[in-house]
Amino acid sequence: MIGKMTENKTLDVLEIFKQSGALLQGHFRLTSGKHSVQYMQCAQVLQYPHFAAQLGAKLAQVWQGQGIRTVIGPAMGGIIVAHEVAGALGVRALFTERENGVMSLRRGFSLSPGEKVLVVEDVITTGGSVREVVTVVQELGAVPVGVGVLVDRSGGKENFGVPLKSLLQLNIEAFEPEQCPLCSEGIPVVKPGSRVV
Ligand SMILES: [Zn+2]
Repeated sequence: MIGKMTENKTLDVLEIFKQSGALLQGHFRLTSGKHSVQYMQCAQVLQYPHFAAQLGAKLAQVWQGQGIRTVIGPAMGGIIVAHEVAGALGVRALFTERENGVMSLRRGFSLSPGEKVLVVEDVITTGGSVREVVTVVQELGAVPVGVGVLVDRSGGKENFGVPLKSLLQLNIEAFEPEQCPLCSEGIPVVKPGSRVV
C-alpha cells in the first residue's frame, strides 16, 4: 500500500488524506460519546514525507511573492507543516511551544521587527493555538501576514485578523448514538484508531 502511495504524485488533497489514513470513513465512536461516519487524524498524513512535502508546497503556493521571510507554527501539529511550507517558500521555519502554559518562542529563535511571518497549523477547530502564535509574532514586532492550515474544521468561523487559507475544509457531523443512521442500520461501531479502510 505504501509503495503504491509513493507512485501517486498528483493526488488531490482529499485523496492524500484518505490514502494516508488521516481521514477514515466508517462508523466511529468519538471521545465525546457521539458517533460519526468520518474520523480525522492529521498526524497520519504527516508521517509520510512525500505527502507532507506535497501539502506544504500546495499551501505555500497561496503565499508566494508576498515577502514572507519566516513560517511559524505551534508545537506539535504546526512543526512539520511550518517546515514543509518554509521549504517550499525557501525561507526558515520556527515553532512556538508552551512554557508554563504560555505560548512562547524559545530555543534562541527570534523574529525581527517588521519581519513578514506566515503562521501555519495542521488542523484548526477553535483556532486557539494559532491565535496565540499570532499574538507571539505581534508582540515581537513582526508582522503576521496570514494563517495557513492543512485542515479547517472551524466551519469557517475563525477570524485571526489576517487572511486564513486552508487546503481542506472539513465538517465532520456527529450524532448521538440514538440518532445515528449507521447504528439504525446495524453497522458495528469502532473506536477511532482501528483501521477500517
Ligand atoms: Zn452509530
